[in-house]
Amino acid sequence: ASEAEEKDLVIIGGGVAGYVAAIKAGQSGLKVACIEKRGALGGTCLNVGCIPSKSLLNNSHLYHQILHDTKNRGIEVGDVKLNLAAMMKAKDTSVSGLTKGIEFLFKKNNVEYIKGTGAFKDEHTVAVNLIEGGGETTVRGKNILIATGSEATPFPGLTIDEKKVITSTGAIALQEVPKKMTVIGGGIIGLEMASVWSRLGSEVTVVEYLGQIGGPGMDKDVAKQAQKLLQKQGMKFKLNTKVVSGDADGEGVKVTVEAAKGGKEETLDADVCLVAIGRRPYTNGLGLENIGLEVDERGRLIIDQEYRTKIPHIRAIGDVTFGPMLAHKAEEESVAVIEYITKGYGHVNYGAIPSVMYTHPEVAWVGQNEQELTAANVKYNVGQFPFSANSRAKTNLDTEGFVKMISDAETDRILGIHIIGPNAGEMIAEGVLALEYGASSEDVARTSHAHPTLSEAFKEAAMATYDKAVHY
Ligand code: FAD
Ligand code: NAD
Repeated sequence: ASEAEEKDLVIIGGGVAGYVAAIKAGQSGLKVACIEKRGALGGTCLNVGCIPSKSLLNNSHLYHQILHDTKNRGIEVGDVKLNLAAMMKAKDTSVSGLTKGIEFLFKKNNVEYIKGTGAFKDEHTVAVNLIEGGGETTVRGKNILIATGSEATPFPGLTIDEKKVITSTGAIALQEVPKKMTVIGGGIIGLEMASVWSRLGSEVTVVEYLGQIGGPGMDKDVAKQAQKLLQKQGMKFKLNTKVVSGDADGEGVKVTVEAAKGGKEETLDADVCLVAIGRRPYTNGLGLENIGLEVDERGRLIIDQEYRTKIPHIRAIGDVTFGPMLAHKAEEESVAVIEYITKGYGHVNYGAIPSVMYTHPEVAWVGQNEQELTAANVKYNVGQFPFSANSRAKTNLDTEGFVKMISDAETDRILGIHIIGPNAGEMIAEGVLALEYGASSEDVARTSHAHPTLSEAFKEAAMATYDKAVHY
């Protein structure tokens, strides 16, 4: 970067939030630079999050299916062996292909990529400690966007070494299958990673503080069903249980737990302990103190509706600020923030951001769940349709789960959609669209869905919301 030149926009962080904003800025004709310290673009999501975890989820599922679910399909296989190193290599290949793809898109859209760690010098100047050559440069911006993301929240008393005591970053890179694994936290990371290692042969116990798995956003009926199915696959759960302490000094890791409300302690022994109790915004070393920016009690940068901090030309999006820590949420904000900068208006519908858990079966939802609506005293109708009554799911011998639709009792407007079942993550897109357009359950029910597809279960759940399903 040349010190003299002032950019229209300087972005700190090249994760999903930062890189998408950089491309959009380039496309909008802004002079833009993006600073990333990791040595690769794509942030948590591409390097150690969404992408590598989905590679392992996909391939561990295939392995598990070949072991346990082929005979009844008329397929006889011989010796099935796991080659973990090759499975990891396949994951790395997907990751590097995608991160290099972003570098290409940067070039194509005239984004300057600065490899280094950025820190505020003043309100318009960012000092960059360069990765290559070890020198420092400064870059000035009319606008500055903070997109520095998040990091795993550590568990007090358990030092992360990413080998025995791991976060998701260690969990996507283990070199052998642990005999026993304890997972602290039954949220999305806990359950996805527990799925991978349990399928590959580990004995996994998940300890969760709340009374349900999946976090509070997951509908209670879906969470119950998910737990039942994951238990059937071999996972063990300890709900309403808190981890009191951990000890990784000896061989393996000992974790002491007790009932959330207090009670008798119990010690869980394992070879590896995954800490998956949430993520926290990351602003270390960013020099916020040099410009007087503060974070809230959870470490989030405080912003207004246009993503402005209290210094109006400095904005923040993605995991480092409010809202669900999801890649597609960050991506929506990236487009909106560039529109705010270039046009003065932008829009994200936070009521229609889908959540997906990529276990098998998948879990996906959008909008509000039953417990939230009950708490808010909203009157609603529920329509549910099981995949066991769907012709395609039956043909595929993959019938576990259901679609549950919730609509306003008075207006029939859809308020929430909750799916557990094969391909739920793809199917939820229809639900998001329905919510965006303010559809009623009858609107969906009167829309033709191809036969035989899993999406017919979606249509039938809609029918059941205001009337009756045909096939159940
Ligand atoms: P990040 O992706 O964290 O990017 C921030 C970047 O900023 C990082 O690369 C960091 O190196 C860089 N940075 C930080 N400080 C500086 C600095 N001072 N100077 C220069 N660079 C800096 N979400 C989904 O939607 N779907 C999924 O399937 C999914 N799976 C996940 C699986 C795992 C295991 C994890 C951990 C997360 C997953 N997520 C998923 C969440 C998703 O990864 C995040 O929501 C997303 O990455 C947020 O993007 P971001 O750009 O805000 O932050
Ligand atoms: P999370 O907040 O989803 O779940 C953490 C869980 O740990 C909660 O259920 C919480 O009750 C529990 N917990 C906290 N402290 C505990 C304790 N001491 N003992 C027992 N349980 C405890 O966080 P996560 O699973 O770590 O994921 C972090 C973020 O990454 C989330 O925002 C998630 O959305 C995102 N992510 C998304 C995906 C996806 O979209 N498929 C995948 C992975 C991660």
